[in-house]
Amino acid sequence: MSVKYDERQIDLGRRILAAGPICDECLGRRFAKVGRGLANAERGRAVRERIGEAEASGDCWVCDGLFDRADEWAERAVRKAEGIEFETYLFGVELSPRVEEMEALLEKRFPSDDAESAKHAFNRIVGKAFEARLERSVTVAFKGPDLSFVIDARADELRIHIASVYVYGRYRKLVRGIPQTRWPCRRCRGRGCARCGFTGKQYPESVEEWIAAPLLDTAGAEKAHLHGAGREDIDARMLGDGRPFVLELLAPRCRTLDLAALTRAVNTHAEGRVEVSPLRFVDRWTVAHLKETRSPKRYRAAVTFDAPVSDEELDAALAALCGEIEQRTPRRVSHRRADRVRRRRLIAASGRMEDSRSAVVEVEGDGGLYIKELISGDGGGTQPSLAGRLEVGAVVTELDVLEVRSGLPERQADVVDTGQ
Ligand SMILES: [Zn+2]
Ligand SMILES: [Zn+2]
Repeated sequence: MSVKYDERQIDLGRRILAAGPICDECLGRRFAKVGRGLANAERGRAVRERIGEAEASGDCWVCDGLFDRADEWAERAVRKAEGIEFETYLFGVELSPRVEEMEALLEKRFPSDDAESAKHAFNRIVGKAFEARLERSVTVAFKGPDLSFVIDARADELRIHIASVYVYGRYRKLVRGIPQTRWPCRRCRGRGCARCGFTGKQYPESVEEWIAAPLLDTAGAEKAHLHGAGREDIDARMLGDGRPFVLELLAPRCRTLDLAALTRAVNTHAEGRVEVSPLRFVDRWTVAHLKETRSPKRYRAAVTFDAPVSDEELDAALAALCGEIEQRTPRRVSHRRADRVRRRRLIAASGRMEDSRSAVVEVEGDGGLYIKELISGDGGGTQPSLAGRLEVGAVVTELDVLEVRSGLPERQADVVDTGQ
């Protein structure tokens, strides 16, 4: 294919060539929108031929040989992507300050409406060369690619970023004493010390680790984060249909996972401690959605009183308790949360005495209502409270979450896809 350049364009070409040695790419980029189906280098050559100029001698004053190395960068990217599963990719380039400067100068001295920037052209060219070298087909994605490369031309470095995979499910925690997520050891802050047996952990196990272990392994991911729709206390169980969560797998080398098999693997591996509903792929926005939604929750609490209480007194006190509750930040969490007063609704409450000093109570309240303090009053920090209504000391000895009313709608069949 050939292009017809008009006089104005030929004149522009002549002036650019007079400014110093320039490669066909950088020359052609000034005419990127002229003529279809041509590469910039071909456009550059055509302009050069029209003017009767010989091939450029010496390094290009604009890109300093950057475009000559496009294949080299593509080859490096192929090697870096070895063993990583992906369908979409994107290249980005950080030019050296000198090339940035020269590109700006080119733009300023030889303005052209038909031009393509060095970054844009380079990313495109390296991308094409990268695709050509792979033995399978992948596509460029400008939004949310599985794999992104950053070519740092200044440091001569190729950085790679593998997008996380997000998996949704609901978990049940069947035993007490397990935190939702891994806590770094308070003494060593995770580095490992005698106190934590050099594990760096405050607790030997967590819901996060139970769920993540089989997935981390299969996906070949670097690490995993569990994002829960709220969290229960460490000593509370999470029963019923469980609590919604998204497990984020960071830098996975494999992203087509058999989630039905992995659901079974988690449930076998964590048997009797943690259980998950069928896992499915979601996008990363689900994390924010889960974190932002505050939904009612239902609890069961075993309560001990420091004086005898009758069934009638308990019923009356619980009925009178429903409505708005004012809670100061509980003393037990005030070291990590700001002290303020919250208003939450107690939607329903019922209970029965087990003996004269102990009861089992079921309550339903807004997300964020502190149940232990609702019962004990927390030294006056929660108003009203069960202890306050009964004028008897009351303390929760066991707490179970029975229902968390949030999360994604159930799906009939969970299909296995890449979720991206
Ligand atoms: Zn150049
Ligand atoms: Zn430690």
